[in-house]
Amino acid sequence: MQRIGLVSPPLSGHVLIIDLAKIPAHGLRLETEIGPAELALPEDEQLSITAPVHVQGRLTKVMEQVYFHGSIGGGVVAPCSRCLEVVNDGFDVEVRGVFLPLGSNRIPGDGDADEGGVTDDLDVYSHDGVRINLHPLVRDQVVMAFPVQTLCREDCAGLCQACGANLNEQPCSCQIESGDPRFAVLKHLKSSEST
Ligand SMILES: [Zn+2]
Ligand SMILES: [Zn+2]
Repeated sequence: MQRIGLVSPPLSGHVLIIDLAKIPAHGLRLETEIGPAELALPEDEQLSITAPVHVQGRLTKVMEQVYFHGSIGGGVVAPCSRCLEVVNDGFDVEVRGVFLPLGSNRIPGDGDADEGGVTDDLDVYSHDGVRINLHPLVRDQVVMAFPVQTLCREDCAGLCQACGANLNEQPCSCQIESGDPRFAVLKHLKSSEST
């Protein structure tokens, strides 16, 4: 009964909670959307997910193991890391997971960790023998898919460190006066042109 305290009891009826008995031999196709609040993300990331996250894929049962192969996609609204302008970003990730019965940490017959076992490219979760809860898998994938850095465009010039002006719009006066290296090059070019 190890780890059971960490697993919240699944509630029947939720779109991400599936009775094992309802997964037919040929697999079960799954397509659903999860609202931002339901994901229960860390607070700062919660705010960035403004639209439901789309989950689709297939569940297949092999003995007591349930495999999920599908994709998770959604939209993120985040400030540009350089100029703070709000940007619409998105993610769409392929997901492979396996749900094992509680208490078993490996697939029977799987090789040693070093030998490239079946679970190497799978995220491993557990089920209670009655139903599986896809919520932890979806949540983990959304957190991992979250863009580390958002840029409004590849060559965003960012904000002036001194006056805070958005340098994408125009160079600010303090940069020209303080002799920013980038502008010094321009000045040099200009002076060599005139000689
Ligand atoms: Zn920017
Ligand atoms: Zn400035």
